[in-house]
Amino acid sequence: MRFALILSVCLEKRLLMHHYIRLLACAAGVWLAGMGGVRAQDALPAPMQPDMPMDNVERFDFFVYNLDGPLPLTENPANELYRGVWNQGATFSYNIPLPDSLTIDLRGYCMPTPSARINDVFGFRPRRRRVHYGLDIKVELGDTIRAAFDGKVRTRTFNRRGYGNYVIIRHENGLETLYGHLSAALVRENQLVHAGDPIGLGGSTGRSTGTHLHFETRLLGTALNPALMFDFPNGRSTGDKYDFSRKVATKAVQSSAAYVKVRQGDTLSAIAKRSGSSVKNICKLNKITQRTIIRPGQTLRVR
Ligand SMILES: [Zn+2]
Repeated sequence: MRFALILSVCLEKRLLMHHYIRLLACAAGVWLAGMGGVRAQDALPAPMQPDMPMDNVERFDFFVYNLDGPLPLTENPANELYRGVWNQGATFSYNIPLPDSLTIDLRGYCMPTPSARINDVFGFRPRRRRVHYGLDIKVELGDTIRAAFDGKVRTRTFNRRGYGNYVIIRHENGLETLYGHLSAALVRENQLVHAGDPIGLGGSTGRSTGTHLHFETRLLGTALNPALMFDFPNGRSTGDKYDFSRKVATKAVQSSAAYVKVRQGDTLSAIAKRSGSSVKNICKLNKITQRTIIRPGQTLRVR
């Protein structure tokens, strides 16, 4: 690949400030992808050999960007923060309290998609009465999806009613990133990945309308707004670090509305107890009184 040669020659000048180089490699990858040169669907041999391992479909030789070899990847990223929990099956069921504050290192970030168009933002969706825990970035079917940071693949699974094909990667900076609605995942669980490595192909699997990447950033299971850390239109992080504050994050969660479905035999006080709300508050939010009859299947706002 000609671009690979050019990049290799450049790198022989030994620009070994690794973050700079990584950024360069990442940008080159995204740029090439943007040119359509290395879209995975184009790179697939035709006809595709059935027993060809998916994770070998697309290995970019121009990612050989550091002549001393890439930085070693951490076998147990953010292990201390996660108290050794490597919870592969469940999605984000950590029972670990958030730290009061945490400096999240954002250096080495790579834009996960060739496109920077945001289709939907983080936050509460009044129409669907639920919180959207990530950002939707427009992608075309088969677009290469890349790891946002160095890390280790915690989960690669499928959920028909939710994220579809999705991958969760844990990073040394404490974040876990989720990539949803993929048409295919290109990584295995426990695989170590570098920022910018192809991890999947864009798609519309699961509960999705139109091809897009659903991208989440979570800290110990709590969804943080990716837009606080990443400047998507410009394809970079908002800075070298993000100062996480539990107070600010908790406030953001508390201020977002929450809804529950009434179960058989439910009472307002049972719902209030279950949801951490109060009967008075539920009545006010739903414009009902304590005497209003509630029915199973009915949706009530509790926050
Ligand atoms: Zn989404």
